[in-house]
Amino acid sequence: MIGKIKFLLMFSFLLTSLLGCSLFSNRKPAPLNESISLSQAAEDLSVYVYWDESHQSARLEDESNFAIFEPGSYTASLNGAPAQMNFSAYHHEGEIFIPVAFYQQQLKPLFQTWEPVVAPKKIAQEKVTRIQVAEKIEREFVVVIDPGHGGKDPGAVGINNVYEKNLNLDISKRVVKYLEASGIGVVMTRSDDTFISLNKRAEMATGANCFVSIHFNSVGSSSPSGFEVWRYSGDGNRRSKRSLDLAQKIRHKIKNGTPLRDRKVKDKGLKVLKSTTVPAVLVECGFVSNAKDMQWFSSENNREKISHLIYQGIVEFLEQ
Ligand SMILES: [Zn+2]
Repeated sequence: MIGKIKFLLMFSFLLTSLLGCSLFSNRKPAPLNESISLSQAAEDLSVYVYWDESHQSARLEDESNFAIFEPGSYTASLNGAPAQMNFSAYHHEGEIFIPVAFYQQQLKPLFQTWEPVVAPKKIAQEKVTRIQVAEKIEREFVVVIDPGHGGKDPGAVGINNVYEKNLNLDISKRVVKYLEASGIGVVMTRSDDTFISLNKRAEMATGANCFVSIHFNSVGSSSPSGFEVWRYSGDGNRRSKRSLDLAQKIRHKIKNGTPLRDRKVKDKGLKVLKSTTVPAVLVECGFVSNAKDMQWFSSENNREKISHLIYQGIVEFLEQ
């Protein structure tokens, strides 16, 4: 969902108070044009940065890696291993600066150990046509797949600038591919990078057997990870029971078929879930704000795997 990684910039405030008593405040700083501040580095790398008071050092970290810088020291620690810089880390205007060369050559590769997920151009070639429900009505089943966000609405922007809307479309197209291969009629609310209103999305589900919206989660902290499936129970009728059934089927497939953390089925009164008249769920496949989740999703095989599991969950629901 919409959200952005927030950076713990508070440490620059803490440093300001440390400057007065710093042992190194008389050191001549290296040229600023050869330096980068740690808060800037952290922002560029989408990692956390904070001041470790007890060790008098600054720490950058994500779920799997960390780097430690001590003002006045030429030696940084990268995942515990010492690494030499061409000049020492230093205080300047309440910030800690390090050599930009060290940032480029050592720090950046440390935190970018996986290939970023790119817009799903490759599978876009497998033509997925938007077909209205009416044209598919002669089919036994029609499923509406709804890739969340799109166009001017990117959804969440995750680590390494992963756009939720692109991931949503990638997974959705893979699910559609499997559905169509089994002769199930499919309507996609969008099959390219277009903005579609929530009302329009819900409307497109009318007459279908079910509606499945595909999203990725995001929060201000990098820790939360895993998948969850949302449904709406508020109307308390048969539709909401069927929605729960669909949610559980998809959840159990993903739970048993992937290493992703199971955050279970949640009850959410979202517009697309409330406004539809057919069984409807929303799958939050993982957290774009979590490095481990994104590492898993950076593999095309894994994206294919979860798509197939979502497809299997839908088929089990349709067949019962
Ligand atoms: Zn979303």
